[in-house]
Amino acid sequence: MSCGCSSLKDGKAIVDHVKYKGKENHQPLAPLEIHCECGEKFTMPTVIANCPNCEMTYAVTPCSSDNIENVKPAGIKYA
Ligand SMILES: [Zn+2]
Repeated sequence: MSCGCSSLKDGKAIVDHVKYKGKENHQPLAPLEIHCECGEKFTMPTVIANCPNCEMTYAVTPCSSDNIENVKPAGIKYA
């Protein structure tokens, strides 16, 4: 990868990067089912998505959105 996305380890950095690129409304490359720390389970509709229960923001870069392990929490209502 030459896009630099793989160097982003922190959820907040991912949100900032994806928004900077204007790609926050992109769909993930594969279905990403989040098991939130609040107990909620939901599938991310876009690469940046908030938990419908606790509003924790989860983020992944579009180019790495084929793997649930690349999804990082960014904080409550970060996005
Ligand atoms: Zn939650």
